[in-house]
Amino acid sequence: MRSRPGELAVRRHFMRGHDMSRAWCGRVAADDERGLWLWFATGSAFRDIGAVDGRPFREVPFDEWGRTERAMRELRWTGDVLMLHPPGAAYSVWFFFRGADNGFDGWYVNLERPGARWATDTLTGIDTVDYDLDVVVAPDRTWRWKDEDEFLAHLAVPDVYWCDDEQAGGGADLQRQFAYVGSSAWRERRDDDAARRDEDGQALQPSDAIH
Ligand SMILES: [Mg+2]
Repeated sequence: MRSRPGELAVRRHFMRGHDMSRAWCGRVAADDERGLWLWFATGSAFRDIGAVDGRPFREVPFDEWGRTERAMRELRWTGDVLMLHPPGAAYSVWFFFRGADNGFDGWYVNLERPGARWATDTLTGIDTVDYDLDVVVAPDRTWRWKDEDEFLAHLAVPDVYWCDDEQAGGGADLQRQFAYVGSSAWRERRDDDAARRDEDGQALQPSDAIH
């Protein structure tokens, strides 16, 4: 059954186990063959996990996160955003509307576990696990990876990191490749390789990045 436009909606992120880390409260914009479209306006209720001492998640060294006492921070969302959740996709596409005229300000592709939808009589929900690595796409369609450093840092603490599902999003190895390909280390190696390619006829593959 499809959700109705205007219905209350919540999008939730979970970390390892059942720890909720983020929640957006907004409205259903549409629910069609392309997926579930949710609208979160600036000023909407937003919850974000952090340390109980007030530090946001990113300010806590990740190797301390597993033993850090946590609390949900009660915040307001900034940046009007329409989020599309294609059925079964290991990503959502966010359309941002920001700036003085609130015009279209680009896309954000959030890599994540395919969303699990749920509903009550009055509320539509979608739950996912965020994979850290994102793609930022400007209105002119140029793009860049975002948070590859954070992703690699989190992979180094597998006891705490939540990205351990090999079935979802291609698994951690594939994501590590994505992150490496987006990093300056890869670009330098690719440039070196281009210089050598004529000599041995072998092109470097992304899979060569993982050892
Ligand atoms: Mg993300």
